Amino acid sequence: MNAPAEIAVIKQHLIDPEICIRCNTCEVSCPVGAITHDSRNYVVDPDKCKQCMACVPPCPTGAIDNWRTMPKAIAHSLAAQFEWDELPPELSTDELAAAGVTADVEIAEPTPAVLPAAASGEEPFDSAAFNATLPPWSAAHAYTNLYGPKNPTTATVVGNVRVTQVGREYDTHHLMLDFGAMPYPVLEGQSIGILPPGVDDKGRPHHARQYSIASPRNGERPGYNNVSLTIKRVLEDHQGRPVRGVASNYLCDLKVGDKVQVIGPFGASFLMPNHPRSHIVMICTGTGSAPMRAMTEWRRRLRASGKFEAGKLMLFFGARTKEELPYFGPLMNLPKDFIDINFAYSRTADQPKRYVQDRIRERAADLAVLLKDPNSYFYVCGLKSMEEGVVLALHDVAQQAGLSWDKIGPALKAEGRLHLETY
Ligand SMILES: Cc1cc2nc3c(=O)[nH]c(=O)nc-3n(C[C@H](O)[C@H](O)[C@H](O)COP(=O)(O)OP(=O)(O)OC[C@H]3O[C@@H](n4cnc5c(N)ncnc54)[C@H](O)[C@@H]3O)c2cc1C
Ligand code: SF4
Ligand code: SF4
Repeated sequence: MNAPAEIAVIKQHLIDPEICIRCNTCEVSCPVGAITHDSRNYVVDPDKCKQCMACVPPCPTGAIDNWRTMPKAIAHSLAAQFEWDELPPELSTDELAAAGVTADVEIAEPTPAVLPAAASGEEPFDSAAFNATLPPWSAAHAYTNLYGPKNPTTATVVGNVRVTQVGREYDTHHLMLDFGAMPYPVLEGQSIGILPPGVDDKGRPHHARQYSIASPRNGERPGYNNVSLTIKRVLEDHQGRPVRGVASNYLCDLKVGDKVQVIGPFGASFLMPNHPRSHIVMICTGTGSAPMRAMTEWRRRLRASGKFEAGKLMLFFGARTKEELPYFGPLMNLPKDFIDINFAYSRTADQPKRYVQDRIRERAADLAVLLKDPNSYFYVCGLKSMEEGVVLALHDVAQQAGLSWDKIGPALKAEGRLHLETY
């Protein structure tokens, strides 16, 4: 269709609210801030979206990849998108004609996303710009979206134990789910979607929440069709105000034998390398330890088999105090020649505050060697607030070692060697 000169026609970019799991990945991927959200929906601003496609590959569900031919004057507004429970259909030819669009529409070619320049001192450092959307070249094949909100599967709780000290506000649980005869193949680094029962304050079913899988590919219990998750009970929001998180409290209170509605698996890039002598650097806080536990345990099982020549395994793990670290005890029992562990505590009495990025700077000499090595893979998971500081610390380590971040940063992204998952 050729629109009359006065009728501007766009291919409007929209997010499917029925599939979206509200993971925020698209919002951090968009270089122009076109994506926003409220407590219910993720939406795209038609006045800001440049159709660069940067948000499309990272979306774990494909909910982001929806486009509607629309006269710009009647494009779906943000206010309308926030109210949707499902996507509206394409306008029919008659509806388009009624809006003044009378012939074939020319759709503008998407413009490739542009990486922001590395930190120059003037531009703010954009850590998300270096987040790989491709997996490591040697990653195993990840199955994704086998189950969606319209066809969830059921898992049975086979274990629920606390992994932090009892009676404290940082209650964290290790939850084990069994899928019985239903296929649910996973890889370390993938996540699962949980559909909490009940409805939200508008009477609509709760949307799914995402949780990283904390067990290796062959099961929490090897050879069984089960996974484990690390769940922190949310009792205050990000501003510290009291709330009772819907899914985290539901999950932490589950009993053995309870049934859970599950979707997923999700994630096809935050995956571990499988080739011999590949190095893994894991940087996490809190429940960001879940995928690191999965990767570490898989490497531990490979080592026990005696059939895999592994590279280095380095862990940077941050928490306010050591009591808040999930899995602290088991971590301390791992052999030193298997994993190089660096803890950072920010609230230990009579000790200076230390964050993971401080530990990264202290280990600069070892990390610079790894940053240079194409067989090294870096994973960051945990609190959103740590992401920028961690990537900036890697940037500084590289620059101070005489390596150019302008080359290394984009290479880490392009080669699937830097993966960021923060929430
Ligand atoms: C890729 C991905 C992986 C994740 N993996 C894990 C995991 O392994 N373990 C885990 O416990 N969580 C994980 N999360 C977070 C999880 O999906 C939920 O967001 C979290 O459990 C809160 O859900 P809720 O239903 O309990 O809270 P909601 O009812 O959704 O939220 C209640 C209030 O708490 C705030 N809030 C939401 N999340 C948090 C939080 N984490 N801390 C503090 N306040 C919060 C909200 O802004 C809201 O104001 C992951 C998220 C993503 C995107
Ligand atoms: S599922 Fe896709 S569309 Fe929804 S918030 Fe995540 S990245 Fe965005
Ligand atoms: S297509 Fe590009 S501009 Fe549009 S929402 Fe996605 S990342 Fe942002």
